[in-house]
Amino acid sequence: MPETLILDGKVIAVEIKKSIRERIAREKLDICLAVVLVGDDPASHVYVNSKEKACAEVGFRSKVVRLPASTSEEELLKLVAELNGDDSVTGILVQIPLPKHIREDRVIDAVSPAKDVDGLHPYNAGRLLTGTPVVSSCTPWGVMKMLEHYRIPIAGKRAVVIGRSNIVGKPMAMLLLAANATVTVCHSKTVNLAEVTREADILVAAIGKPRFVTADMVKEGAVVIDVGINRVEDALQKSGYRLEGDVDYAAVLTKASAITPVPGGVGATTIPMLLSNTLALYEAARK
Ligand code: NAD
Repeated sequence: MPETLILDGKVIAVEIKKSIRERIAREKLDICLAVVLVGDDPASHVYVNSKEKACAEVGFRSKVVRLPASTSEEELLKLVAELNGDDSVTGILVQIPLPKHIREDRVIDAVSPAKDVDGLHPYNAGRLLTGTPVVSSCTPWGVMKMLEHYRIPIAGKRAVVIGRSNIVGKPMAMLLLAANATVTVCHSKTVNLAEVTREADILVAAIGKPRFVTADMVKEGAVVIDVGINRVEDALQKSGYRLEGDVDYAAVLTKASAITPVPGGVGATTIPMLLSNTLALYEAARK
């Protein structure tokens, strides 16, 4: 049996960032990403620091606003309105999850679609649905870049997405559909899940449960994309935890024709796609 192809997100990340950096330097573009962080979720702090660093790497300016967990919805909406009206800001990202007392959908709706680098505003979600996206949710968009990079055929293939969140599952399904796959979306109420997933030529797991996808759920030779990033307690690690995907990697590895590792797979492509979305919004604003 041929060896399983490991889909390396880091390679794609380097490639995307290099192309953006060269473009920014060549054309001397002035692009600024504003990132808003409310509260003290440790994972969010790590993500925001990485986003700030990535901006600097490609030559974007970044403006990080860190607010206490006690910030009211009103105050956050006021800040978003200010950033919407600030011509020196190209894109806005409000880090999710937000504290419980703030309604996420209200904040997502408040970000101007022209500055919505996450592609979560209903306008941008609608453009994706109609096949004319300017930006697309970064994580599924990174998956598409990965499939493209490794020349994995999509048209006519049976794709199964486990998960239907607005940030991963739904946009993932739309992008695969736009690439002419026959797409099935599964979720927590799906009956006989393994029966459906075993039909997949391309299986995307975006569930949030470590090692949920076991080898018996995977067809021989399938391409397996693991979006999951789960912190699993591990006393042997300095941090006290290790990262695991939604797929039982070791078991599925021998069955799949291609698979993404965690970490170093899909997760590595997300921030580069965020930079790419910011550049796309800059261009769209100048058309
Ligand atoms: P979510 O909690 O919003 O959605 C999870 C989905 O899984 C839901 O649609 C639910 O219906 C489905 N689900 C739950 N239990 C199920 C079951 N037993 N059977 C079938 N489906 C089930 O999560 P999300 O925001 O979509 O994230 C999913 C995973 O992807 C998480 O591990 C998250 O950390 C990770 N993630 C990674 C990145 C990245 O950059 N790589 C970005 C976003 C999310």
